[in-house]
Amino acid sequence: MRPTSESAPGGGGPSLKRAGPALTYLPVFLQLQGQPAVVVGGGRVAARKVELLRRTGAEVTIVAPDLIRELRDLVAHGQVRYLPSLFVPSHLDGAVAVVAATGLTEVNAAISAAARERRIPINVVDDPAASTFIFPAIIDRSPLIVAVSSGGEAPVLARSVRQQLEALLPAKLGALARFMGERRAAVKRALRMGARRPFWEGIVRGMVGTRVLAGDEAAADQAFERELRTLNLTHSAATGAQGLGECYLIGAGPGDPDLLTLRALQLLQQADVILYDRLVPQAVLERARRDAERIFVGKQAGNHTSQDRINALLVERAQRGQRVARLKGGDPFIFGRGGEEIEVLAAHGIPYIVVPGITAALGAAAAANMPLTHRKLAQSLTFVTGHVLDDESLDWRSLAGAHQTVVFYMGMGHLPQIVAKLRAAGAPAEHPAVVIERATLPGQRTLRGTLQTIADITIAAGVKPPALLVIGEVTALPSVEVLSGAAEAAHVGVTA
Ligand code: SAH
Repeated sequence: MRPTSESAPGGGGPSLKRAGPALTYLPVFLQLQGQPAVVVGGGRVAARKVELLRRTGAEVTIVAPDLIRELRDLVAHGQVRYLPSLFVPSHLDGAVAVVAATGLTEVNAAISAAARERRIPINVVDDPAASTFIFPAIIDRSPLIVAVSSGGEAPVLARSVRQQLEALLPAKLGALARFMGERRAAVKRALRMGARRPFWEGIVRGMVGTRVLAGDEAAADQAFERELRTLNLTHSAATGAQGLGECYLIGAGPGDPDLLTLRALQLLQQADVILYDRLVPQAVLERARRDAERIFVGKQAGNHTSQDRINALLVERAQRGQRVARLKGGDPFIFGRGGEEIEVLAAHGIPYIVVPGITAALGAAAAANMPLTHRKLAQSLTFVTGHVLDDESLDWRSLAGAHQTVVFYMGMGHLPQIVAKLRAAGAPAEHPAVVIERATLPGQRTLRGTLQTIADITIAAGVKPPALLVIGEVTALPSVEVLSGAAEAAHVGVTA
């Protein structure tokens, strides 16, 4: 029931001090393992509640004149008890919880009255006023469970909050809770009381937690044993001695923050410091923990952070005990020098995990409605860097052939040369090509042409990095969305 005016601010007696607004419900978790629960009703709604109750291990009895197929199957398999009858109050005797799901107002009211008389908690589906308990929206990471309720006022809002939390809470949170539960006794034996909480906090926030959440329990277990041993020896948990930090090498995707992975988001919420590249837009950084330190390490004229400096910074911050997010555009292992960074981390014994990101080519293809492979037009796909034009190891003849898609990253500075190389290697002048600028970012443009025309079109349109050159028959498909073209290019003018 709704709170009465007595609990509204200013409504209490003069001698009563209130902590805040009334709590509309007491959130509790009922332990129903082996306990009798009754569901009245045999339809779809009843079936959902039966399923939920069964997951808690409750002994469910269904009361209804008839059942839908799904419930009949449960009865046939002996999973629930069934009373094939109309409701009478004595059906509730001995139950610890009751759900009324008949869909009939009068019957539900009778069930509610009978339950209240017996002081059994009752939920009437979709009727908080007739209920003494309500079902929250839940995020199940058992044994960790988050319950969200609007007290029946705005179920859609509660569900929307649940969805947001679903995205934020790692899928393996339950595994972490179990992992910790299994080691509680050992920690209790090993550490004195004041040291336990800081120890567990370190486990949750640090590399043990990160490992479990990433699905690597073996590594987590090793790290756990190591931390427990060190702590046991030094007794330093309560004195604040800093452990080793860790590093998250995170792919930020092509730019649109909604294209971050859930794990990227979770780790960005956790990091103490974020080292980010030029390709990472503000909108992505805004998804990180508010008080995290942000360090720009982009490679940009006039403000050039060398790779050595970045490596040194990663190591130094992690050794200080910080959780360092290294945030890179696209995927860290595609033209992102992620390989070099993990080598350095490994050499210094700093734990790291790699979170893949949507690489620019994939983001651009989706944004332009352009399949990168196609049953008839392209059976293979190659990502090439346009940076090292004179690299002898690059086989231009194989890139120039038909029936494939080739994506050039970092090619804008050398577009005419790339085209010339392809032509010299045998690609025809009319070989289709597109340039996609700022894929998935505001101001995205797609310019379509051929090897003959694409360089001029791009230069005339004043395309600036980041942009990709894609060649192959798929770029000429009618679905490919051309967001800008020669007409616009004409008055944009030529940039040097
Ligand atoms: N690791 C990144 C690539 C880094 S190299 C990834 O996986 O995407 C930088 C090049 O990526 C740019 O020169 C450009 O060619 C391409 N690029 C990155 N983001 C882009 C975007 N939003 N639109 C078009 N090209 C992009």
